[in-house]
Amino acid sequence: MTRFVFITGGVVSSLGKGLMSAALGALLQSRGYSVRLRKLDPYLNVDPGTMSPYQHGEVYVTDDGAETDLDLGHYERFTAVPTRQSDNVTSGRIYQDIIAKERRGDYLGATVQVIPHVTDAIKNFTLADTDDADFVLCEIGGTIGDIESLPFLEAIRQLGNELGPDRATFLHLTLVPYIAAAGELKTKPTQHSVKELRSIGIQPDVLVCRCEHEIPDSERRKIALFCNVREGAVIQALDASSIYEVPLNYHAEGLDDEVLRSVGLDPHETTPDLSKWHEIMEHVNAPEGEVRIAIVGKYVVLPDAYKSLIEALVHGGFANNVKVKIEWFDSEVFEGEKSDVVTALENVHGILVPGGFGERGAEGKIAAVTFARENKIPYFGICFGMQMAVVEAARNLAGVSTANSTEFGACDEPIVGLLTEWQQGDTVVQRSAKDAKGGTMRLGAYDARLVPGTLVHDIYGQELISERHRHRYEVNIAYKERLEAAGLKFSGLSPNGELPEIVEIPEHPWFVAVQYHPELKSKPFEPHPLFAAFIGAAVKQSRLV
Ligand code: GLN
Repeated sequence: MTRFVFITGGVVSSLGKGLMSAALGALLQSRGYSVRLRKLDPYLNVDPGTMSPYQHGEVYVTDDGAETDLDLGHYERFTAVPTRQSDNVTSGRIYQDIIAKERRGDYLGATVQVIPHVTDAIKNFTLADTDDADFVLCEIGGTIGDIESLPFLEAIRQLGNELGPDRATFLHLTLVPYIAAAGELKTKPTQHSVKELRSIGIQPDVLVCRCEHEIPDSERRKIALFCNVREGAVIQALDASSIYEVPLNYHAEGLDDEVLRSVGLDPHETTPDLSKWHEIMEHVNAPEGEVRIAIVGKYVVLPDAYKSLIEALVHGGFANNVKVKIEWFDSEVFEGEKSDVVTALENVHGILVPGGFGERGAEGKIAAVTFARENKIPYFGICFGMQMAVVEAARNLAGVSTANSTEFGACDEPIVGLLTEWQQGDTVVQRSAKDAKGGTMRLGAYDARLVPGTLVHDIYGQELISERHRHRYEVNIAYKERLEAAGLKFSGLSPNGELPEIVEIPEHPWFVAVQYHPELKSKPFEPHPLFAAFIGAAVKQSRLV
């Protein structure tokens, strides 16, 4: 029997709803339950793939090629359950399906309405593809009170009735702010948020209260009384020192116990095994040194734009038992004097150019690659960071002075060009510059074959790998021989040998650039081998400088 935990947020956004959902998933897993986690997003984009990272943060890509909300990254990092297309839906996708059906005539004769058509579509999505997991944790994006989330709340309200209290429970995350002038925690925003929820027919069973100070028993009683929940089901959530402490903290506050109780399960019947999380916290709390990694990118003012990347670097630190200190650089600042690059990057132990889109800042990224290559500082290029590394090598190692990417316009030497055709399983996918932008990139898991004797072959310890992709442009295989002769080895290719997947410089201590996004598959308890190796190289570098 699959049980559903519906998770809503109140008062303000950014309370860590995604992280709490992921942590609860991990806690239920630690007791032997199987879980799936999914997110219902009320905005009208069909998926977040067309939004700026400044708007939405990172786009998390699943194996099956969905461009999804970054919370799915938390879910996967905490539970290791591979997320998929069916784990993220938006109002845009729901309406797109309904309108397509209406045009086909599937509803002939009927007036198509929010209730029941939109709510039914949301319910179908929520109940579908659950793999018979013991628990499905279903997070509703946005904050209670938003107009656009109403159909989602109505849908989960209906599901609460249809599934019954043993199969559905409602968890609400709110804020209990501390007012310094009064020296008091305030429960009123929580009361209002729950009142709003109850006015649309949802009575939360468990309240999780984010707070900066301990909630005294008297205030906890007050919250319970005004919000109509049991006192034990008021869970306080103090700020954590690391996101990997969050499952342990929630467990200590009794979150998993309360969720189990709320669906009629006895928490004493299962014993949580949290050893994995304690081990991770040992790495967090007792690193043996620190490495400094420069990220040279475009969206550096918003770390959420690089969420998985930051975490994968942290995991690489766990693998080497060091703390990873990230230094952010807007690549545009490297487009002026060469001395600026030297001053900024001379003392870092590794340089990483992440994924990105568009011409702005590209020359600065290329300057960072040149610096890493010439000064033998470990370099890790990811997606756009690989494409720029190849342009750099073409210009400065192979003497192709006008080498560039056609992403920035037509050019004489298109070292990186539009991807117009590729193999996906047994089918050939074709694209042209005229195609619509949404969901048309080369997305999701594709295999790559590694060349024996190369650094990446050694790092992965296997020949065939599968990694997640999200790109529209590709390195032009026609330049392979010239680039290899100049010292840039093509160490990984698509199985048909047509798409370059990895390049490396054998003459460099650690220079690896990949077309895919390895950061999406890294876990704290299973650091991605490339991140483990990159931080390992940075540790070596830190002993030199
Ligand atoms: N803009 C490049 C492309 O579309 C790189 C994409 C990325 O870094 N994810 O191919």
